[in-house]
Amino acid sequence: MYRFNQKIENNLVELDDGFQRYGNKDSPFLLRGGKEKRKEASRFHQERDENERKYDERKHQPITRDLAEWKTDADELDFPHVDTIPHRTLKQRAEEAAELCEATGLVQRIEQDSEISKETVYGQYHSGVNKILLDIADPPFLACRYGPVLAHEVGHAIYDELQPGSGIHPKVDVFDTDEERQEAEKLKRRLNGPSESYHTEGLSNTSEAELFAYVFESICIEPEAAFREAQNAAARVDQLLSLEEFDVRLRTLFDR
Ligand SMILES: [Zn+2]
Repeated sequence: MYRFNQKIENNLVELDDGFQRYGNKDSPFLLRGGKEKRKEASRFHQERDENERKYDERKHQPITRDLAEWKTDADELDFPHVDTIPHRTLKQRAEEAAELCEATGLVQRIEQDSEISKETVYGQYHSGVNKILLDIADPPFLACRYGPVLAHEVGHAIYDELQPGSGIHPKVDVFDTDEERQEAEKLKRRLNGPSESYHTEGLSNTSEAELFAYVFESICIEPEAAFREAQNAAARVDQLLSLEEFDVRLRTLFDR
């Protein structure tokens, strides 16, 4: 499932440079607005060499809202919604993953514009019938648009295949160490904002299935960032995707 844990307005931060952010940490997925500063950044970006610009838009670099800092190092930094990965690319990457899952039966159906009546829920995966529902008619942030939400739900379909309820395969522990789990939580905050509650230091009560789905989502749509921000957790999920018994050839997705 992809949902915000809190109502948007309860977690919306008005930043003094015209950006609005969901949660307390800058993320390319959870910022909107930007007004004049963003327009100026866009002008600067348009004047860059076309190949350089296109190459830059293939990956997520660390994000900054400091225009001067970004301009001096635009290759190594990203300005939100300017040289970050455009939604059409995120969508294309998610669709490639979804098509692979459809070809192997992991996903039977994807329903767009399905009305999930619960507020702040943008996607659901229905186990058993292997169906993905997307409710993204009015996404408040990039995080809730088609590409990111589809990638997340594909992650659930894969997790379901790895950990079937029936007990045919022995259960696989996805994240073995606290470090891997903390890194997975970090990707969750990047893609979904703050968690509702924490039970121990730095760890929320987010289920393993959800953490797997967030790590998968990040690997799928922004692989460089996944491995930069969460090296061990991303490596673990990557390793599970290439398990010999997991014969869906998802590995081909990640030919970096
Ligand atoms: Zn989920």
